[in-house]
Amino acid sequence: RRTTKKTKEEMKLPNPAELGIRLLENGITSADFLKIKMEEFNLDERDAFIVADMGDIVHKHLRWHEALPRVAPFYAVKCNDRRAVISTLACLGAGFDCASKNEINMVLNQGVPAERIIFANPCKQSSDIREAAVHGVHTMTFDCEDELVKVSQINPTARLVLRIAADDPSALFKFGNKFGASLEDSKHLLHMAKKLGLEIIGVSFHVGSGSKEPEAYVKAIYSSHDVFHLAKKLGFSMKLLDIGGGFPGCDNDGPKFEEFAARLKPALDLKFPRGSGVSIIAEPGTFYVMSALTLVATITTKKVHIKDDDKRIMKYYLDDGLYGSFCTHLYDPEVVMKPISFKGSDEPMFESICMGPTGDEKDCIISTCSLPEQSSGDWLHFKDMGAYTVSTYTSFGGFTPSHCEDVIGQDDWQTLQTLPEDLRTLVPVDATGLSVPLSCCVQNS
Ligand code: PLP
Repeated sequence: RRTTKKTKEEMKLPNPAELGIRLLENGITSADFLKIKMEEFNLDERDAFIVADMGDIVHKHLRWHEALPRVAPFYAVKCNDRRAVISTLACLGAGFDCASKNEINMVLNQGVPAERIIFANPCKQSSDIREAAVHGVHTMTFDCEDELVKVSQINPTARLVLRIAADDPSALFKFGNKFGASLEDSKHLLHMAKKLGLEIIGVSFHVGSGSKEPEAYVKAIYSSHDVFHLAKKLGFSMKLLDIGGGFPGCDNDGPKFEEFAARLKPALDLKFPRGSGVSIIAEPGTFYVMSALTLVATITTKKVHIKDDDKRIMKYYLDDGLYGSFCTHLYDPEVVMKPISFKGSDEPMFESICMGPTGDEKDCIISTCSLPEQSSGDWLHFKDMGAYTVSTYTSFGGFTPSHCEDVIGQDDWQTLQTLPEDLRTLVPVDATGLSVPLSCCVQNS
């Protein structure tokens, strides 16, 4: 078996330009920058663009460690795979949850070592498992027999994490029908892993993206504990609990992140107390990036419909839509966007519809909202556009992705450079194959 005696990792801080991030002038915020950019465009040259504020991610990271100090975040790259996001999180000491060999390569290319990566896709392509192993990524999830056989043939020294079923029925995106083993299946899989001589180091779950229900995590923590118990009886010594993603990315829709954390923490302390030797990690995606990106789209065309009662309905066609930055709406129409007009709020309001640029009728960003009257060329902005937006673009209709500008304010860059020592020092936890911040390290538990 592989030995992993590694020393503490000293994190290097490159300068923002090396990461493709624009360091804003002193006193300029990302909101100021957005307005400055808008003024740079002539009326007939306007195109949708995005401002990605890396400072927002820095603050999310501090909130995470404040609320869940024992839980090491492994950012889910699929949520937003921009280089600036990955490198900012790398500088902050986060780990990474990758779903494919391409994501693994993206993260490694930012100078992140393999010990900061969990391959968290329970159903993987054989070639992906092979390539991950070549790069030293050995910690990975699974939830079925077939995957165990595959891993035993391709990377028999992998450190496997059993993904169990855990569903929040109120989550925006549910994964329960696709991934996760039941308790009964888990028992069978553990027996099988024993026969194949595989190492099972822990349990993971994901309650679904956009969870509204902290109790779903509590239930899943209890179920994970049952699986740890089962595994112990079979002679496994599990060392890792991975509580997945699903945490809210903004504070205005359902319980806040801190409310989730307050409900989770006692359950973790009860079932996996300090001193139990179990390291706890999570795979937050939305939490980190949702509020960091703001999209400004332009109105390409305006149509006015007069209804029988003489009421006017405004139909606006924008230069970004459901096949672009709003792609998740194709899968979940429950997500409601709120366009914000730059016109004064004292102007008369009209019932309005915002459509995307493609030929598909479904390409409707919002079917009814109230806006002051707009004209072609006017800007509308959309907040909280960081999660599953820039990573899910399609090229349908030949439209290009909205240009994204990654920025950071001077104060936030300063905060990043002066992170407390125990957040910025990463320590290998040999039993898991992963490195985590000293503050979350099991030895500190
Ligand atoms: N981990 C896994 C395995 C996922 O599939 C996802 C989302 O699809 C995430 C983490 C990130 O979830 P969220 O963006 O809800 O935090």
